[in-house]
Parts: sequence; C-alpha cells; structure tokens
Amino acid sequence: MSLSEIKSRIAAEEARAGRTPGSTTLIAVSKLQPLERVEAVLEQGHRVFGENRVQEAAGKWPALRERFAGVELHLIGPLQSNKTRQAMALFDAIHTLDRPKLARAIARIADETGHCPRLFVQVNTGEEPQKAGVAPADADAFIGEVRALDLPLEGLMCIPPVDEEPSLHFALLARIAARNGLSGLSMGMSGDFERAIAQGATHVRVGSAIFGERVYD
Ligand SMILES: *Cc1c(COP(=O)(O)O)cnc(C)c1O
Repeated sequence: MSLSEIKSRIAAEEARAGRTPGSTTLIAVSKLQPLERVEAVLEQGHRVFGENRVQEAAGKWPALRERFAGVELHLIGPLQSNKTRQAMALFDAIHTLDRPKLARAIARIADETGHCPRLFVQVNTGEEPQKAGVAPADADAFIGEVRALDLPLEGLMCIPPVDEEPSLHFALLARIAARNGLSGLSMGMSGDFERAIAQGATHVRVGSAIFGERVYD
C-alpha cells in the first residue's frame, strides 16, 4: 500500500461514518523502518510521525527535522521515567501516559522548562497483564490526577488485544473519553484503522500499511 492509498481510505471512512473530512490525523509509524522509506514519505509531504522508542527517535529525527520543516513527532511506545526529560524535548505528543509517577515527573519538568507535549492516557482496555495502560476501572481517577497537575491532556489511547474484535475496545475507549470530556482518541493501526475511525478515532497510528513490513535485525 502507499501513503496516498491510506489517506484515501481514511477519507472514505470519514465520509461513510458521517465524520468531518480531515478530522482524523494520520500518524505514520516509522519505527524500525529503513531511512529511505521514511524520507520517501516526508518527500510526499507527510509530516506527522510516530515512534516507539525514545532512543531510536533521538537517533534519527533531529537530522530529519533539519531537512524537513514542520515535522510533528508522537511517542506511541512505553516511556521509562528516566527518559522523560529527553522525550519531552523530542516529542510533540506522548500517547503512553499510564501512571501517577510519570505524570508527576512530566509536570515537574514542564514547570521547569515551560514546555509540555500534548498528552494521551493509555488505557489497557483488554486488561492484559503484559500490556501497559491504566485499567478501564481506574481511568476516571487517573484522568482526574493528570488534570489536577494542570497537564495538557488531549485524549486517550489504546492497543486492543490481538485476538479480539477491536471495535469493542475502540467503543469502550470512546465511552471513557466522552464521560471525561476528552476529545482525542488515539486508536487504530494498519489492520483496523477504518474500524477505529468509525468509532471516532482522532489519531490513527499506521505503520506497516504505509511503509511495508518493519526490518528487525
Ligand atoms: C507499531 C505500532 C503501531 C503501528 O502498527 P502497524 O500494525 O504497523 O500499523 C501502532 N501503534 C503502536 C502503539 C505501535 O507500537
């Protein structure tokens, strides 16, 4: 597939679902992709990218940002507390806020630097023990804690279990966001972004469908 194909599928799904055209932000997930594939997507004019690891992103995006103006970078992988400062300097948005300690560290650094990325709380909608995120039952309380710290909370993020219908998880995330007055919904990947848009996704995170299979070595 290609960037333009994904964009037209997003537009078609927005229309089908009665959504405002352009209300879904496409985050091109460039983790573990060869540089030339990332450059090709930048050359087509795309500017919103997602990375899983702070270290990997720090190794590649500062140089790309010098060549391509207007890049917006989203952290979509787990954030260790000791990388918080580096992540806040590098990323425009963090989708994986999932614990009070991290929220407090972000608040402290934001106070100090006067800068804070937009934040999404990750919710473990499938309550999978190996997955990050707050449990659905704890989400309202945690969202309250984040707000009490005066952080720029934009929405919620989830990664549904691989073996379940993702729409149920997207709908659950949308309900938690709605009852907390949050507008951002980061949900949907290569295999299910259309279903996520149907459930109200504002940010879809699409990697392999744009770039091809990731290179692990
Ligand atoms: C890798 C990743 C994606 C993109 O996955 P694809 O299936 O390649 O589209 C989306 N979200 C998160 C959190 C990821 O880690």
